[in-house]
Amino acid sequence: MTNPASGFKELVLASHNAGKLKELQAMLGDAVRVRSIGEFSQVEPEETGLSFVENAILKARNAARISGLPALADDSGLAVDALGGAPGIYSARYADGKGDAANNAKLLDALKDVPDAERGAQFVCALALVRHADDPLPILCEGLWHGSILHAARGEHGFGYDPLFWVPEGECSSAEMPPEQKNRLSHRARAMALLKQRLGLA
Ligand code: IMP
Repeated sequence: MTNPASGFKELVLASHNAGKLKELQAMLGDAVRVRSIGEFSQVEPEETGLSFVENAILKARNAARISGLPALADDSGLAVDALGGAPGIYSARYADGKGDAANNAKLLDALKDVPDAERGAQFVCALALVRHADDPLPILCEGLWHGSILHAARGEHGFGYDPLFWVPEGECSSAEMPPEQKNRLSHRARAMALLKQRLGLA
């Protein structure tokens, strides 16, 4: 069977998250022309799925329906071991939509009595690519990035929980890494490497 996604020249990224958009665009490079869903709509679909994959498919279908283009969606988040995997799919909304700083403050508070050895966590990324809104065979790729949660924020790069995410292989937080390094190591980078292989772009 030929690759179901090969041959398209442009796609729409189903995200309004500026941090994610920047990283995904950098990873895709010039191989495919990337358009933002913001060109077509400011309305975000309700994320009703119970998993990263379900939400990624839902967002990709919505973007393809609105734009008429093939669509790539990223659903991602932080799963903290001591919190049973929370905030997980609710990472963006952990502090009731009050934004990254409030999410980070809530996470630090939830872990305030948790010792270093029990602060393990992983970033999770699910990518879904659909050729059209009703595509019966979305391409799905996942990536995990293991680390642990710091006791205070460090670094200015990235977005979201990056200042709290300690990366053992870099011996720094993911917000202290230059963007190029994060884009080689991260959950998103791992999922994107798989997607590029599937698309014959690697
Ligand atoms: P989504 O837009 O529903 O997929 O939510 C993603 C949320 O997960 C973001 O708003 C961040 O809080 C968090 N997140 C995902 N990827 C990253 C990352 O690379 N760095 C930091 N936070 C991330």
